[in-house]
Amino acid sequence: MFDKQFSGVRIRQTFIDFFVERGHTFVPSSSLVPGGDQTLLFTNAGMVQFKDVFLGTDIRPYTRAANSQKCMRVAGKHNDLDDVGRNDTHHTFFEMLGNWSFGDYYKKEAIEWGWDLLTNVWGLPKDRLWATCFEDEKGEIERDDEAANYWIQQPGFKSSHVLFFGRKDNYWEMAETGPSGPNSEIHLDLGPGNCISEHDSGHECSVNLDGCNRYLELWNLVFIQYDRTGPSTLEPLPAKHVDTGLGLDRIASVLQGVDSNYKTDLLSPIMDTVQQLTGHSDEEQAANITPYRVITDHARAAAFLIADGVVPGNTGRNYVSRMIIRRASRFGSLIGLEEPFLAQVAESVIENYGEFYAELTRNRSAIVDNLFREEKRFQRTVEGGVSKLETMLVNTQENDQMSLPGEKAFDLYATFGLPLEITRDIAREQGIDVDEKGFHAAMEEHRLASGAGEVFGVFGEENIELYQDLLKDLVKEDKIGTEGVNYDPYDKYEVEGTLLAIIKDGELVSQANPGDQVEVFLPETPFYIEAGGQVSDIGSIVSVAKPDWEIRITGMRQPSAGVIVHIGEVINGEPSTGDLGFAQVDVQRRQDIMRNHTATHLLHAELHAVLGDHARQAGSLVAPDRLRFDFTNPEAVTPAQLQEIEAGVNHKILENYSLNIVVKPLQQAMAEGAIALFGEKYGETVRTITMGGEAPFSYELCGGTHVGETGDIGTFLITGESSVGAGLRRIEAVTGREAYQLVYRRFILLNQTAGLLDTNPDQIVEKTRGVLEQLDGARKSISSLRRELIAQEFNLILENVPLVDGVAVLTAILPEADGESLREMADRFRQQYQSGVILLASVYDGRPLLIAAVTEDLVARGLHAGELVKVAAQPLGGSGGGRPTLAQAGGKDPSHLNQSLASADEWIKDKL
Ligand SMILES: [Zn+2]
Ligand SMILES: [Zn+2]
Repeated sequence: MFDKQFSGVRIRQTFIDFFVERGHTFVPSSSLVPGGDQTLLFTNAGMVQFKDVFLGTDIRPYTRAANSQKCMRVAGKHNDLDDVGRNDTHHTFFEMLGNWSFGDYYKKEAIEWGWDLLTNVWGLPKDRLWATCFEDEKGEIERDDEAANYWIQQPGFKSSHVLFFGRKDNYWEMAETGPSGPNSEIHLDLGPGNCISEHDSGHECSVNLDGCNRYLELWNLVFIQYDRTGPSTLEPLPAKHVDTGLGLDRIASVLQGVDSNYKTDLLSPIMDTVQQLTGHSDEEQAANITPYRVITDHARAAAFLIADGVVPGNTGRNYVSRMIIRRASRFGSLIGLEEPFLAQVAESVIENYGEFYAELTRNRSAIVDNLFREEKRFQRTVEGGVSKLETMLVNTQENDQMSLPGEKAFDLYATFGLPLEITRDIAREQGIDVDEKGFHAAMEEHRLASGAGEVFGVFGEENIELYQDLLKDLVKEDKIGTEGVNYDPYDKYEVEGTLLAIIKDGELVSQANPGDQVEVFLPETPFYIEAGGQVSDIGSIVSVAKPDWEIRITGMRQPSAGVIVHIGEVINGEPSTGDLGFAQVDVQRRQDIMRNHTATHLLHAELHAVLGDHARQAGSLVAPDRLRFDFTNPEAVTPAQLQEIEAGVNHKILENYSLNIVVKPLQQAMAEGAIALFGEKYGETVRTITMGGEAPFSYELCGGTHVGETGDIGTFLITGESSVGAGLRRIEAVTGREAYQLVYRRFILLNQTAGLLDTNPDQIVEKTRGVLEQLDGARKSISSLRRELIAQEFNLILENVPLVDGVAVLTAILPEADGESLREMADRFRQQYQSGVILLASVYDGRPLLIAAVTEDLVARGLHAGELVKVAAQPLGGSGGGRPTLAQAGGKDPSHLNQSLASADEWIKDKL
């Protein structure tokens, strides 16, 4: 079709350069884990990191952007997993190239540039390109003639190649309400030979026609021009946006003239690595193409996931990581790869993508290590699971059922770690479906939510417009700058300012009364808003002039860009809009928080030093009374390592390093090796915290508040280490005042204990050991005395044993006798009586014990000691057994001992 001079790497770069030359800012891909969005499992489109810009709650320093975004589509609405491996085009992980206009250029430029890039830069034949535009089948929304006309104006574009389609193909909505608009797609005619229905009578090839693969959708241009406020109400947006998406794998396959994404130079090196591992010929590879594709796709996805901190686990994102690794591993076993092999495949992913996505190279050891461990873990469990599944499938077929019950599939997952997706693969190979609804219901019951989320969360739940309009009005009245509230939690703890607005129950009010829960808006605030794990400040706002009023501030939030409100309760007086207030942070609490925040950075650095760079942050809490830090580590941290970490942090505290806080461009900080936190969203410029001067031992991106020197922290003490999921550990610690309190409480306990032991704290261990030895000796003599007592008591009993038909029959309780004493007494009975049966009972350590013995002659008459203890144990809720001549039993409930003896008596009489 054209000269093949485009490597995948070059295509990505030409795209970015093309738009940068046209005034766009290159924005690096955001993490696969969406920052600050709990409702979305994975970043699944280029627009995820710009969502708030479209919603008007985030402002960027640029109005044009270009990027190549890492995306995962594996759960929820956009789920391509089923098709991955079966065809040449579906992937779990993919890169989406995109150019963006935020209220800047619109349809004219977007279409012009798209056409220019495709035809002039990349050389696609003009007469083979088609464009689709929107025409509403319901006639409610205007037809997009604007876009159609721009297409027709492009040099070399055939005017007959504009087609109109309805809402399903050519209208885009973020959610049920919110930004929406028509879109326009560019399709490429691959030629009649690519149609799969070519020979069906009556078939006429066309764009967007199912069962005709002749036209390939390349690029989707979305024009966001409406705000949907209800099912059939659209309001024009004041600022119109452009959002485009072009899949890199697909455009590479076109520009490289190959008929499969797996044959592009992006994926073929990975396919080749798998082939080297199997030793297959090309023919053998072609015969097993599905496993090859699945392994290639999944290894790429797994490498990118682990690089973004998503290690294999049981829930949510971690489950997806586990599932795709296990699925790839199973497909490996279908083509003879028995030993763990994915790490080797992932090496070629890192090789191929590591230059553009430096996180892959940086996390090479974590990727290799996690893949190897997960495959090993899977090998241990899979054999049991698969053979169990095969039995289930045979049963299903024998019962003429076409579907495996969901609970059974869940059972395989819960017991053997066999993911549903693999169960489904295997079942389908035998023509059986899996009841997935039933599976998810069973999973729900076990609280192992699979984590599949909606694409975006619920919008419009709160009235963001109230805050946006409020800000606009205040800016218009010159009461506040265009940037909104001046947020400065770093340099001060208190500020004086006018109450610009009071919000109560979601409404603006001019005055509030004691007891009211309110949100208060000041032009400036020193209160920190919860972010990066650090909790919000609390404090108060009080009146500066008479009459007095006071609002107790319990929290902070930012409902919309530039709008920061203090949440609190009116304690006394009647604060009114326009009053002058004095806002003051609870300083002591804030200083506790700052100690914990700086200590968190020290801990993070020390974890890297002691455990290694794989110990990456996976969540954190910085509160006044403690800090909590979650990180990836395959095993528990040993007591020795914990001690080393704690000592290391305290050493850094005593060295009294100054904190160096600098604001700089994100890309510069990343290039210098700054650590970004997992799941956190960063702007163009970032605040960086370093410690250690010229060669810092800690360098993090952080918006939190910190002490001036590490010495301010006081003391750092680890209070716990625990597991919070597969491969995830948690350390909890205290500093400053709380650390002092902990030491103080421990000292008191130590002194009290030493006092009770009549010694001093330094000798407490030795003294305790001595006391325990004495106690042990005393216990031994008590138990030998008790045995003697029991023996004497038993001697008395033995003299008065009743005879039944010449047979000695004895049932008795010997309180507090242990098992050994009971056996000894039973032996003495048998020595004394030639023919006899005995049942002895006791309560030892609160639990009933039974011993039965029968002389040989009676065994011949059908008396069995084992049966006797069973009968006697029944009322005690216990069981037992033994030889015909000697047996014992235990029970749970000693209160029925008399009943137990009575049933033994009756049984013996019956037998005699
Ligand atoms: Zn066709
Ligand atoms: Zn921090």
